[in-house]
Amino acid sequence: MNGLMMQQPLLISSLLVHAERHHGEQEIVSRRVEGDIHRQSFRELALRSRRMANALAALGVRDGDRVGTLAWNGHRHMELYYAVSGSGAVLHTFNPRLHPDQVVYIADHAGDSVLFFDLTFLPLVEAIAPRTKHIKHFVAMTDRAHMPTASKLDKLLCYEELLEAQNDVYDWPSFDENQASSLCYTSGTTGNPKGVLYSHRSTLLHTFGIALPDALNCSARDTILPVVPMFHVNAWGLPYAACMVGAKMVFPGPGLDGKSLHELFESEKVTLSAGVPTVWQGLLAYVEGNGLKFSTMRRSIIGGSACPPAMIRKFAEVYDVQVLHAWGMTEMSPVGTAAVFKTKHLNATQEERYAVMSTQGRAVYGVDMKIVGEDGQELPWGTQTSGDVLVRGPWIVQRYFRDEGGDPIVPDAHGVGWFPTGDVARIDADGYMQITDRSKDVIKSGGDWIGSIDLENIAMAHPAVAMAACIAAKHPKWDERPLLVVVKKPGVEVTREALIAFFDGKIAKWWTPDDVVFVDAIPLGATGKMLKNRLREQFKDHTLPTA
Ligand code: AMP
Repeated sequence: MNGLMMQQPLLISSLLVHAERHHGEQEIVSRRVEGDIHRQSFRELALRSRRMANALAALGVRDGDRVGTLAWNGHRHMELYYAVSGSGAVLHTFNPRLHPDQVVYIADHAGDSVLFFDLTFLPLVEAIAPRTKHIKHFVAMTDRAHMPTASKLDKLLCYEELLEAQNDVYDWPSFDENQASSLCYTSGTTGNPKGVLYSHRSTLLHTFGIALPDALNCSARDTILPVVPMFHVNAWGLPYAACMVGAKMVFPGPGLDGKSLHELFESEKVTLSAGVPTVWQGLLAYVEGNGLKFSTMRRSIIGGSACPPAMIRKFAEVYDVQVLHAWGMTEMSPVGTAAVFKTKHLNATQEERYAVMSTQGRAVYGVDMKIVGEDGQELPWGTQTSGDVLVRGPWIVQRYFRDEGGDPIVPDAHGVGWFPTGDVARIDADGYMQITDRSKDVIKSGGDWIGSIDLENIAMAHPAVAMAACIAAKHPKWDERPLLVVVKKPGVEVTREALIAFFDGKIAKWWTPDDVVFVDAIPLGATGKMLKNRLREQFKDHTLPTA
């Protein structure tokens, strides 16, 4: 027997409709590329999103078409979040830090028909435009006064002009909640980035999940400044959560240095922020160096890489800011766990509480989680044994876009499918997860991935290199940086400097390995695969050059 409740699909547009009706006066503040601080209300967000939906239709964007963005965190980007997905098209956020070759690959793979971009990225867009196959329209996210006077792009469109040409009457269409809403590429262990295609349903359920008090705890009393970019897994879902709960949003645009961020925290009375540890390091250094405090910021969500326990302590003891350590990944929309207390911790000692806060946390409802051993058998919780972390749930990826990389799902003995995260962790008796290693061969530098296989392929093309492995080495600022481990061909010489110089022009500069070590042999597994876990262990205390 079916229940007798209304059938209403979970659609992203419903968040905007709710925000306009119930939180219309709430503010969105953006530091823009043009240099000003812009303010608008949720009412204006809704109105401008409707105009943009009309503009997209006028550009020929239809249901399911992919619309790309190369943009910082800002109100126009948020308008596109709602206009593109709300109208039935798919919002595809690009990471502008990628090498132009990868941007071209991703644009072609996604099949984007329109690309919106912030002025900062004009040179990048001009460089890739002639090489992409499907993009018909390029739109600069600015007004007429700031449009570039000389651009290599044919018929460059202006965002504000597109809006002005439209009226704000637009009925958000209703469709199946499983329809695709947005697309974000992740660099996997193979060379090519893989697309994670979110649906309206997965996005809405994730938004409910993260807004909960024991997850990211967002409310109408919060002023949220996401430092985490809107091009990286939808800024952890915060632009959606803000509309769901009616929180004020503050967008930092391109100003991610300590001074610009601290100014906004103070002037806009930010209460909650979110970012990777590297960003907080920069911010803390600035605040410390200038004898400043946070007057209103009380909670900072830190994830993307392990948050150092010393940072949690400093935030709490010096700045009265509570760190919320969280874990997730692009394939998980992204939030999976959050390090929040249970009743039993309320009377715990401060040291015990810090220990809980330093774990990656416990599962948010909607994410089921387990650890397995090498034989695929589930491992018990509450022991010191680590295993591969597998997850399942309504906001976890099932397959990658265009089936890139094949079927990632691992079935258990009952045929239930689990997604292998590539993280290795132990889980304590209370369900708190502690990541101990990573089985995937990627390097995470300041929150952005570096593909180790790309680096190895380049190194292997050097005439003196017999074998090369690239692993993550600990770095005080960037958390991880690439370390190249090389076996030389017999009788051939090459220096560390020459090998590093060999990467020039072949990859984005920040992907270049920080250091090279020469070894006699690289450990290999039974199938001839390099045992990078072994190498990571061997070089875990390697000190990278700081210059
Ligand atoms: P991404 O898909 O770029 O969001 O990266 C996801 C990966 O980042 C995870 O699989 C982890 O390897 C790593 N990661 C994310 N959050 C944390 C965390 N709190 N601690 C340690 N590693 C993390």
